[in-house]
Amino acid sequence: MPASRADRAKPDLPERFHLSAGETFLEPPCLEGSLGLAIKVDRVLCQERTEYQDLAIIEAGPLGRILLLDGNIQVSQFDEPAYHEMMVHVPMLSHPDPKRVLIIGGGDGGALREVLKHESVQEAHICEIDKRVVELSRRHLAELASGFDHPKTRLHIGDGFAFLAGHKEAFDLIIVDSSDPEGPAEGLFGPDFYRNLKQALRPGGIAVSQMESCHLYAPLISRIFEQIEGMFETSYYYTTMVATYLSGVIGFAFNSLGPDPLAPVDQKRLQALGELDYYNPTLHRAAFALPCRWLKLLPPETARRQA
Ligand code: SAM
Repeated sequence: MPASRADRAKPDLPERFHLSAGETFLEPPCLEGSLGLAIKVDRVLCQERTEYQDLAIIEAGPLGRILLLDGNIQVSQFDEPAYHEMMVHVPMLSHPDPKRVLIIGGGDGGALREVLKHESVQEAHICEIDKRVVELSRRHLAELASGFDHPKTRLHIGDGFAFLAGHKEAFDLIIVDSSDPEGPAEGLFGPDFYRNLKQALRPGGIAVSQMESCHLYAPLISRIFEQIEGMFETSYYYTTMVATYLSGVIGFAFNSLGPDPLAPVDQKRLQALGELDYYNPTLHRAAFALPCRWLKLLPPETARRQA
């Protein structure tokens, strides 16, 4: 398992997170310290200790601007569409008519921007725990954060766990765009959270959660899928390729109260989204095809569905 984020975060910015232009920064390594990712920092736009985490936004050559939380890359302009388009358009286009959408986390605004491309959306709620992520993303990552000014957006600053517990049958789609399962996001990876997710969905709803890389988080992914087995009508794990995430790949848990993510996509709705950078329907289907060693991490019925 990766080193705990709680171990790495310190009350004051430790020397290693004090980024300076010209230095090469090593993201805290995973797999018992054996695998890391080095980024050459051109410019530091901001860095501070917020109420919840160490936050920095840097510029790094062709990678563009990068948001780091506790030293972990959250978003880079270079390949953020590979993450946001796949996290959002896969479930949005799997649902027949998503009107009320909730994003938990996602304070950089990338998921919100993609949700708002869908004409069916009447309200896009976003519940982010750390207001500084939203404020500094608006300032330094304006293209990502453009959706915060949209009239359909409802921004809630607070803990996504508590927010969800207060909602029953309220959303057609819930997207959990969280950081790693340590620090403030820890509660978003437990069975109680998934029970609340299910209750907060309208009939026929879908919940998609950031579910880490099978290379790095195999025991966690296995445990969560075991805990939620049978809770939803169907559950799936799908992936996308993100060069700036450690291991180059990240996955999502797709939990459905009806819609089938492998059904053909409505071409009219797809066209209405305009030009996309990463998502297409072939990739949508392919994202659910998994290597044998990852299928083994899933409960038998889920693995059979995806084999
Ligand atoms: N794409 C990213 C990744 O996989 O690393 C996630 C991006 S987004 C910036 C993650 C956000 O989740 C952060 O802004 C963090 O503050 C927020 N977050 C963490 N725990 C949360 C909680 N309990 N409730 C709401 N938001 C939370």
